[in-house]
Amino acid sequence: MDKYDVIVIGAGHAGCEAALAAARVGGKTLLITINMDHIAQMSCNPAIGGIAKGQVVREIDALGGYQGIVTDAASVQFRMLNRAKGPAVWSPRAQCDKSCYQRGMKFALEQCPRLDVIQAEVTDIIMEDSKAVGVITNFADEIYSECLVFTTGTFLTGKLHYGSNNFSGGRAGDPASNLLSIALKERLNLRLGRLKTGTPPRILSKTIDFDKMQRQDTEVSEENFSYYQDVAPLPLALPQAIRKDMPCYMVYSTAETNKVVKENIHQAPLYQGKIEGIGTRYCPSFEDKVVRFEHHPKHLLFLEPEGEFTEEYYINGISTSLPVDVQIQMLRTVPGLENAVLSRYAYAIEYDFVFPDQLNRSLAVKKHLNVFTAGQINGTSGYEEAAGQGLIAGMNAAKFAAGKETVELSRDSSYIGVMIDDLVSKDIIEPYRLFTSRAEYRLRLRQDNADLRLSEFAYQNGLLTEEKYQIFSRYRDKLAAVEKILRKNKLKGKTLWELLKQLKGHFDETAPLPFDIELLELDINSKQGRKIMRQVAVKAHYEGYLNREESSIAKLQKLESWKIPTDFNYDGIVGLRNEAKMKLKQIEPTTLAQASRIDGVTPAELALLQVHLTRLRK
Ligand SMILES: Cc1cc2nc3c(=O)[nH]c(=O)nc-3n(C[C@H](O)[C@H](O)[C@H](O)COP(=O)(O)OP(=O)(O)OC[C@H]3O[C@@H](n4cnc5c(N)ncnc54)[C@H](O)[C@@H]3O)c2cc1C
Repeated sequence: MDKYDVIVIGAGHAGCEAALAAARVGGKTLLITINMDHIAQMSCNPAIGGIAKGQVVREIDALGGYQGIVTDAASVQFRMLNRAKGPAVWSPRAQCDKSCYQRGMKFALEQCPRLDVIQAEVTDIIMEDSKAVGVITNFADEIYSECLVFTTGTFLTGKLHYGSNNFSGGRAGDPASNLLSIALKERLNLRLGRLKTGTPPRILSKTIDFDKMQRQDTEVSEENFSYYQDVAPLPLALPQAIRKDMPCYMVYSTAETNKVVKENIHQAPLYQGKIEGIGTRYCPSFEDKVVRFEHHPKHLLFLEPEGEFTEEYYINGISTSLPVDVQIQMLRTVPGLENAVLSRYAYAIEYDFVFPDQLNRSLAVKKHLNVFTAGQINGTSGYEEAAGQGLIAGMNAAKFAAGKETVELSRDSSYIGVMIDDLVSKDIIEPYRLFTSRAEYRLRLRQDNADLRLSEFAYQNGLLTEEKYQIFSRYRDKLAAVEKILRKNKLKGKTLWELLKQLKGHFDETAPLPFDIELLELDINSKQGRKIMRQVAVKAHYEGYLNREESSIAKLQKLESWKIPTDFNYDGIVGLRNEAKMKLKQIEPTTLAQASRIDGVTPAELALLQVHLTRLRK
């Protein structure tokens, strides 16, 4: 077989963006995955986006990635979450047709120049003089490459739990990847840990009485995920969901549901000590909720359609690993589900992950700089977190293969930058997911301005096509021109900019403006014109806060400019405690700013480090 620049192992959410990014940057890329029909499968809920996650999808789009484009094509319901709050915290979320999403991403991969996709299981890593130079598949094919990107999700030594029954699997319906787990440990000497996650049951809609539930309709809005969907012709004709208005339903569990759980709690694998992997506190199983929040007599459940051409509904909020007969009893205590037929049972899964403190911020393994990991294998949870990492790992792998320097995203540029910095600098003790609270600069990292934050970086690094960059540049320039007019022109002694603040950050084209729109030389009948108005309204509203954030970003950037050499001798610093030395040697921060975020390094120790770095600068 041909030699490649980059081989990506696993076509989940991380692997797809990794392969597309590597090929976009110019690398001859191969994507190997166990089952071509399960590409970009949504193993859990059929939705993309949500709080902090929606921002990541917008960032992926600004970086030329595909998650937003494919979501728009496959979306059956779109909502902007947090609309009741200020626009700084709005987050887009789309309910998707699961199989349409998979077909869309598969088609995008197949159409991508310089990218081949094959079905096989990678079982081993080829080493030459301690360097990873390729992979071996279950067909005994040996395939060579400059760089490897592992994006194997929940598959490494995966084990599924249904009550006291457990068996090997990567997720329901897919085999586990056991041999690769061994290869990562033995060939690359990587430290692996064990995590756990779970998924709720799916129910056939014809057995649900929706009249007993509260209906939640799609939001009528012109928003979607991709910045380019309407303004640029799509590079490919993706399969499209026809209906964009499929409703979801809300309903509460009952005291009866709690009773069934309590009577059967001894059968839950976690309570039997059968699960060693650590699960998520923020996304507890239903049995966890009943035990931990005993005072809550009921819990909110959302019924979400899995797609247009299926009867299956996903029951958000009732993830469980109780035995299947108990699951049926539980569900039938919920109003409207008295006769429910479960098409797929809920289960928990345990799997191996790579402790991400073994990576640097380009997502390369520190001991093997031509090997990258991204997605759930790095201890994260979620399609968006996986895709964001995949894009960065794939881009950097292609750069490394071409002999170029790898690049990183900073914390003040993006949620993706925040996430990667957290992963490599902090202890991962449970599956990591993004929250807005993880970002220090939340007002800057909004869903509406990811293109303004990241398009230049994307273009400079070969991630954004010339065509998209031109579209972005025209928008950015027009936005700047409008802002200039707003700041310069006055009405009744006030600048238009000040008057714009009356909108409190929320532009609505049907509501009156505090000045004549003609003054702005802007066509608000066009989608781009309205986008510009929304952007300036938000900027004007948050101006004071944004300025304050800017000054703390400037301080952070100063610390980022203090580079720490990889061979820096921490043992030579008198006054550093052993705990701090151990952490610094383990994580090998590349800048003083990164060192400042390591748990267990005190401000006094940072000052000491800075003194020693000053000496090195002289
Ligand atoms: C039961 C379950 C419950 C979940 N619950 C949640 C939840 O509540 N919230 C949430 O945000 N996320 C949840 N997730 C996680 C979500 O599915 C993942 O975060 C996301 O899919 C991770 O993307 P990924 O690309 O890292 O991995 P995956 O989407 O898992 O993709 C991995 C890919 O690698 C391939 N692969 C694996 N090994 C090999 C090999 N050796 N050779 C070739 N190909 C290989 C697989 O075939 C697969 O295509 C859940 C997942 C599961 C399975």
